[in-house]
Amino acid sequence: MDEIVLQNCELFLFDMDGTLYLGDNLFSFTNELLKTIRDQGGRYIFVTNNSSKSVSDYIKKLEKLGIPAEYNDFMTSSQATALYLLEHHKCDNLYVCGTKSLKKELLDNGLNITDDYNKTDCIVMGFDTELNFKKLEDVSRLLCTRPDIPYIATNPDYVCPTEFGSVPDCGSVCDMLYNVAKRRPIVIGKPSAAMPELAMKKYGVSRDKTLVIGDRIYTDIKSGLNAGCRTLLVLSGETDLETLNNSADKPEFVMNSAEDLLFVLKRKFI
Ligand SMILES: [Mg+2]
Repeated sequence: MDEIVLQNCELFLFDMDGTLYLGDNLFSFTNELLKTIRDQGGRYIFVTNNSSKSVSDYIKKLEKLGIPAEYNDFMTSSQATALYLLEHHKCDNLYVCGTKSLKKELLDNGLNITDDYNKTDCIVMGFDTELNFKKLEDVSRLLCTRPDIPYIATNPDYVCPTEFGSVPDCGSVCDMLYNVAKRRPIVIGKPSAAMPELAMKKYGVSRDKTLVIGDRIYTDIKSGLNAGCRTLLVLSGETDLETLNNSADKPEFVMNSAEDLLFVLKRKFI
């Protein structure tokens, strides 16, 4: 393994669950790893596909786990979707099938939201933990009657893990709607390159000095590969060696956990 490549990275884009903690259990090395990156002049960002929670919700969650965090430490699929919409649908009236948190993120970015399908120019799907049948009916109506209407989704995940197993996420709801209208949305979250691209642009760091770290190949690692960044798969979450061996997408680096990255970075000045 080429340690120098990792030691030269300046921007570290971390997946959270399975990488920095597992469920409600913080990994013992996490705070030291984050501190080491910062002490060495690097920047880390927590990247999440979850569009049901706001950044302040995440700050609270990380603080409860013992990780100090602030607004600029995050890149969520809600933020990335807002930036995408600002670029492509700035003046459109958005019909948002998402939580109050997602709507707030879009409104805070100056975007327009409507609940009236007659006045809608663009559909935005999120991980909607406030979903009801009225919203599904409105989106179905829009997709059926206006086959060309722009249709955007914050993230492609089928399920979101919970303490009892999982609940349906944005991708599953989009599949329900596929059965209605045979259309798939443009997807912003991982594995799209959008979040790494936005983070690199924001901090002015090049692809070869940006490391995407995560425990899922088909989302975290794929987003890094799609963005042309360096990629590090950690085996502390969802992926085991068998899954890695069977995957067509290969990360540049593989470690048992991000603790091994800490060891590599600590050797930087030796
Ligand atoms: Mg994960």
